[in-house]
Amino acid sequence: MIPFDMLKELKDFLGERVSTAPADTYVFGFDASIHHHKADAIVFPKSAKEVQKIVRLCNKYRVPITPRGSGSALAGQAVPIRGGVVMSFKRMNEIKAVRIEDLQVIVEPGVINDQLNAELNKYGFFFPPSPGSGNVATIGGMVAMNASGMRALKYGATRDYVMALEVVLPTGEIAHFGTHTIKDASSYQMAKLIAGSEGTLGIITEITLRISPLPKDTSIVLAAFEDTKMASQTISDIIAYPLIPASVEFMDRVCLQSVINARGVDFPLVDAVVMIELEGTADDIKNDLKKVEKIAGKNGAVDIRVSSDLRKKTEWLEARKAVLPSMSQYAKGKMFMVSLADDMSLPISKIPDAVYGFHKIEKKHEHVVLGVYGHAGDGNLHTIFLIDPRNPEAWKDAEKMVGEMYDLVIDLGGTVSGEHGIGITKAPFMWKEKKDSMEVMKRIKRALDPNDIMNPGKNVEWDDGILVDLRYPVNLGGDE
Ligand SMILES: Cc1cc2nc3c(=O)[nH]c(=O)nc-3n(C[C@H](O)[C@H](O)[C@H](O)COP(=O)(O)OP(=O)(O)OC[C@H]3O[C@@H](n4cnc5c(N)ncnc54)[C@H](O)[C@@H]3O)c2cc1C
Repeated sequence: MIPFDMLKELKDFLGERVSTAPADTYVFGFDASIHHHKADAIVFPKSAKEVQKIVRLCNKYRVPITPRGSGSALAGQAVPIRGGVVMSFKRMNEIKAVRIEDLQVIVEPGVINDQLNAELNKYGFFFPPSPGSGNVATIGGMVAMNASGMRALKYGATRDYVMALEVVLPTGEIAHFGTHTIKDASSYQMAKLIAGSEGTLGIITEITLRISPLPKDTSIVLAAFEDTKMASQTISDIIAYPLIPASVEFMDRVCLQSVINARGVDFPLVDAVVMIELEGTADDIKNDLKKVEKIAGKNGAVDIRVSSDLRKKTEWLEARKAVLPSMSQYAKGKMFMVSLADDMSLPISKIPDAVYGFHKIEKKHEHVVLGVYGHAGDGNLHTIFLIDPRNPEAWKDAEKMVGEMYDLVIDLGGTVSGEHGIGITKAPFMWKEKKDSMEVMKRIKRALDPNDIMNPGKNVEWDDGILVDLRYPVNLGGDE
């Protein structure tokens, strides 16, 4: 509950831009994860000064505050797990400056990724991290999550593009981290620390991003396999050749079936497809294409399709981006996609072992169907669980599988999250992976947020299980 006096003070300077309407406090309690917790109030600031005032009030009354972009986080990062204030950036969505000659753009946190790229494309530039959620993800959310996507193999993740940040610290001061220069060796790289901190170390109110020129030309290759291991071997072989395409994506049969059902796309329905995006001059692409065809052929590809046609390339890329939201179409109306162990990252050479191992684990658990896809070229796999979320047995199976899968990932030298972050759902496994660095991270959190108000109870602070505050009507017979 928010104290009456605090609510009054908020209303005094925000007016209609603070809401305690039951519909709002309920809806803003969701993100794209399995969790839900009602907020107590939603605020819509318009400036860093207003953000500062709100944070100071939260400190004074010791009320939790959860920053929120579009709520597309998959592990509970935007769920106000301890209630309190949710801060939305819908009213801070201006592209403030496009400085092509300095290779940078300055934006407010509520700008949407695809809107930013539509603007930059007019100048022949783009902001490369390309999440599947690019049509909704805000730049503030992407920085806070260190989001990335298909092009990370060649271009890196959001953190690599963060030059400077304006941040309202949990104690209420406004700090400017980073620089507007391409090079920066001036002490601690605080902007890089805030990037990926999931709204637990401060609120980002302005972002300066580096930008890149658009590639000259692209072609896409679809290589189809009836053997998942050989498909994933093809990925390792392409990288080792050496060849670094713009993206190398993997989709297994469950994912292909789902996206074919949902969108009617002309993907081959086989055990696995590897989708390779080549870019450069026409000659570069021609040479790289020969290499890819040779490697895929050697590994037993049963079908190889190539397209440089814009309409077809867009259709394939959009279909690949739509895999996650299409998953519930796999077993129409019987099983639904839930986000659990969805985002592990591995050394690239371990991808074949991981894909094989995940399917082996799946076979032991009768209530779960597993879809495996992802940016396998950079070692990042997505595994999607399809279950009947009303069935407690399905949750028990899923929970066991998550543990077994992360044990495998950690044994193979991987990490629990490549891009979707920790939040609540992955926190217990991060403890397993990062035993000796957790205490240092907790000290940083305590130093910056002594009153523990900034998106509390997540990430380094989460010490409970994963099946908590579930959004589904299911009785698990214990903590729910
Ligand atoms: C269908 C689908 C596909 C996806 N594909 C990808 C993908 O390919 N790659 C990928 O990386 N992710 C992906 N995601 C996850 C998610 O979309 C990204 O993490 C995205 O960056 C979140 O942006 P958002 O605006 O929705 O942030 P939210 O979900 O609202 O918030 C995410 C986190 O950022 C914090 N935050 C938000 N704004 C601020 C701010 N101004 N200051 C401080 N903290 C803030 C929040 O507190 C929260 O911890 C996908 C999600 C879905 C549903």
